[in-house]
Amino acid sequence: GCVCVCVCIYVYTKKNIVHTPKQYTIGAFYSVLQYGIVLDAGSSHTALFIYKWRADKQNGTGIVTQHSECHVKGGGISSYAGEHGGAARSLEPCLDQAARDVPKDRHSSTPVYLGATAGMRLLQLSSPQQSAQILQEVEQKLRSYPFDFKGAAILSGEDEGAFGWVTVNYLLENFIKYSFVGRWLSPGRGTVGALDFGGASTQITFATKEPVEKRKGGVNLRLYGQHYSLYTHSFLCYGRDQVLKRILARLIQAQGTSGTITHPCYPAGHSQKVSLNSIFSSPCTSASPGPQADPQAELTIRGTGHYQHCLGNVTQMFSFNTCSFSRCSFDGVFQPNVTGSFMAFSAFFYTHSFLQEVTGVSVTTPSQLEDLLLVAPEQKSRLQDYCASAVFMQVLMLRGYGFDEKSFPQVSFQKKAGGTSVGWALGYMLTLSNLLPAESPVLRKALTL
Ligand code: AMP
Repeated sequence: GCVCVCVCIYVYTKKNIVHTPKQYTIGAFYSVLQYGIVLDAGSSHTALFIYKWRADKQNGTGIVTQHSECHVKGGGISSYAGEHGGAARSLEPCLDQAARDVPKDRHSSTPVYLGATAGMRLLQLSSPQQSAQILQEVEQKLRSYPFDFKGAAILSGEDEGAFGWVTVNYLLENFIKYSFVGRWLSPGRGTVGALDFGGASTQITFATKEPVEKRKGGVNLRLYGQHYSLYTHSFLCYGRDQVLKRILARLIQAQGTSGTITHPCYPAGHSQKVSLNSIFSSPCTSASPGPQADPQAELTIRGTGHYQHCLGNVTQMFSFNTCSFSRCSFDGVFQPNVTGSFMAFSAFFYTHSFLQEVTGVSVTTPSQLEDLLLVAPEQKSRLQDYCASAVFMQVLMLRGYGFDEKSFPQVSFQKKAGGTSVGWALGYMLTLSNLLPAESPVLRKALTL
C-alpha cells in the first residue's frame, strides 16, 4: 500500500510540477473539508442545509454531500410581513447551530446563500416593499455571522425547477460517475425528471427532445461535457397550502360567508373553525368573499367525506380547455409529453408516504380520524388535509401533467437520497459555487496539463 501511494505521489507531482507547481502540493492528498450553507426560505418554513466536500475532488459528482440540516421554528420568512425584524430573528437558532456544525477554522471560507421561493414571490406581488424589507433584514442577519455571505434572493419558478432537477440528477450520479478503473465517465443513462410540490407553488422539470414552445420554459445546461435541454414550469398558487385555501375559498363563495359550510374533502363529522381573513388574504384567493363579509368573521367548516364531490371541486381549480400551443398541461401552459423516470419530493413525498402508512384505513368517520391520529400522532394539524392533497395530486399528475398507467409507475416518491434532502437547495449551491464544470474532468485535465 505504502509503495503504491508513494509511487502515485511521485508520478503525480513529477507530471504536473512543471506546469503548475503550487496547485499540486502533497496537501491535496490530505485535503480539508469545505462547507457550504443554503437556507431554503420556503413559504411554510425555512430549512438550513450544510453541505460538505473535499476540496481536491470538486470535479466529480456525488462528492458534495449533506453534513446536517436545521429546520427553523415558525412560519416562512414571508409570514413575518409587517413584523419588523421577525423574519431575521427566526433564523438565529439555525444559524447558531450552523456556527457549531461547521469547524471554526472553516467559517470564513464557507459560502452562505439564501434562496426564497413562492411565499416571497407572492409577497413580492402583493407588497413589493414588505418583501424587499424582509430580504434586506435577513441579509443583514446573515452578514452578522462569520461565514462568507454570498447573497439572499428570490428564485424565479424556472430557477427553482431547474435547480431541483440538478439536485436529483447529481445525487443519482446521472451526470458523471467514478468508474472502478479510477476514471470519471459519463454513465450513459438518461436523466430523471423532478416534481416539486411546495407550500405555494409546484414545479415540473424534465429533459426533453421536443421543442419548448413557451417562453422561459426551456433551460439549456452544459454539465461535464454533455448538453441537457430541459422543460420546466412552475405553477404559482398550486402549492399545497395555497391549494387548500383555494378549495375553501371556492366552497365559501358557493355556500356563503356565515354560519356553517360543508367540505367534501374533510372526513364526515370533522369540523373546524376558520376566519375569512386567513383564507382570502392571499393573492391566490383574493377574489372577494362578498361585500358584507367581515374579514374577522369565523366560519365553521364541516366535513362530509364525499370523494366524488371532493374530486369535482378540486378538478374545477384547473382549466383544461384553453391551449394555444401544440399541447398543454393545464391553464393554457405548454408542456411536452412526460418521458422517462421522475423523482417526486417535498409535499408529493409527504402525502404519498402518509397514504402508504394508512393504506387500508378509509377515513369516513371522526373515530377513524382518531385511529389515524394514533398511527401518526405528530400529524394532528395536517390530518384533515391529506384527502384534499391526495386528490389534488391525482388530478395534477394524471390529468394535468399527463402521467398514465405506463409512466406513473416510473415516478419515485423520495425525501432523501443517500442522506441528502432532495430539493432545489443543493443544485443551487453547486451551480452558484461553480462546483458543476461545463466540461468533463477528464477532458479538463487533458486541456490543462
Ligand atoms: P415547503 O417545502 O416548506 O414549501 O412545504 C411544502 C408543503 O409540505 C407545505 O404545504 C407544508 O405544510 C407541507 N409539509 C411539510 N411537512 C409535511 C408533513 N410531514 N406532512 C404533510 N405535509 C407536510
